[in-house]
Amino acid sequence: MNQHTLKTPHHNEASGPDLTDAFRASAAQGAPRHDWTLPHARALIELPFMDLMFMAQSVHRRTFNPNEVQMSTLLSIKTGGCQEDCNYCSQSSKFDTGLNATKLMDTEAITTAARRAKQTGASRYCMGAAWRSPKERDMDALCAIIEGVKDIGLETCMTLGMLTEEQAVRLKKAGLDYYNHNIDTSEEFYSEIITTRTFKDRLETLQYVREAGINVCSGGILGLGESQDDRISMLVTLANLPQHPESVPINRLVPIAGTQLQDAPPVSDLDFVRTIALARLMMPGSMVRLSAGRETMSDEMQALCFLAGANSIFVGERLLTTGNPDEDKDAALFARLGLTPSHQAEADLPDSP
Ligand code: SF4
Repeated sequence: MNQHTLKTPHHNEASGPDLTDAFRASAAQGAPRHDWTLPHARALIELPFMDLMFMAQSVHRRTFNPNEVQMSTLLSIKTGGCQEDCNYCSQSSKFDTGLNATKLMDTEAITTAARRAKQTGASRYCMGAAWRSPKERDMDALCAIIEGVKDIGLETCMTLGMLTEEQAVRLKKAGLDYYNHNIDTSEEFYSEIITTRTFKDRLETLQYVREAGINVCSGGILGLGESQDDRISMLVTLANLPQHPESVPINRLVPIAGTQLQDAPPVSDLDFVRTIALARLMMPGSMVRLSAGRETMSDEMQALCFLAGANSIFVGERLLTTGNPDEDKDAALFARLGLTPSHQAEADLPDSP
C-alpha cells in the first residue's frame, strides 16, 4: 500500500516510525489487537476521509464479502415500564413518551413472528425486553422462547438488561446464541446519560455472557451529546475487551419527544461514517451493524457506511420502539448497490480474536 495514503495529521516524518505508525500498520493489515489507546485510535479516525475509507474497506475485504450484508430482525417482547433512566429511551418509566407498557409476550406469539421473519430472509432473531434485569420468575419463559425460536432454524439473540452469572449460564443452556448489551457511550460520559447503573455494571454483564459461552453483541449510540473522543473511547473499550464482540451495533440517536434528549442535535453523516470505519479497523473480525437511526439515512449515506465496513442491518418495520426502513425500501437499496443477504455467522469467522 502506498505510504502516502496512510499519513495522519499527527505523523512526524522527521522522527521516523513511532507507536502510532505501528498501530496504523497493524490496523491496515486487519490484525486484531486489544491494546488500543485513545491517541492511536484518534490518529485513525482523523485520517483524511479517503484514506480512512480505503483502509477500512481494504480491511473489510480481508474477512468479509463486501457485497453481502447480514440481516437481523428485532422484536420487542416486553415493552416500556423500565426502571432505568437512560435519557434517550422511550421505554424508561422516568419519561412520559406516551408509550404503552406491555407484559412479556407469550412464547407462541413470539415464535409465530419469528417464523414470519425467517420467511422474509432473516437469519437471526433478536428479542428485546425493557428490563433493568430479568426476574427469576421470568427465566423459565425466556428459556422456552429461546428453544422455540431455535426450533424454527433461526439464531437467537436477546437483550434483557443486566444478567447474573447464573442467568447467563441458564440462557446459554437453553440455546441462546447472542446476547446484546450495549455500553452506549464512553466510560467518561456514561453518567451524563444513565445514573441508575454504572459503566462497570455493563462490563460485568458482558463478562458473564462471554464466560457462559454466548456470543457478545455490544456497541453504542452516537448523538447523545458526546464528543468525538467519547466515541473513540467507547470503541477503545470494546476493542480492548479480552475478545472482540462478535457484533458491534452502532446506533444513530432517534430523538424521542418526552425524553431528555428530545432536542439533541444530529450527528453529521460524515462523522457517523468515520466512526463506522474506525469500528471496522479496530475490530476487523466483528460484524458492524447499522441499527437504530437507519431510517434517517439516505441511500447514499448507507452506501458509505457499507463502504466503511458496516455489514449488518436490522430489517422489518420497527426496531424496539423506533421506526425502521420498510422491507421494500431495503430490497430496492440492496438491488441498487448489488448487495445480497449474508448468512455468515460471526462465530464462524476465522479471526474472532
Ligand atoms: S435503554 Fe434499555 S435499560 Fe435503558 S431505559 Fe431503555 S429499555 Fe431500559
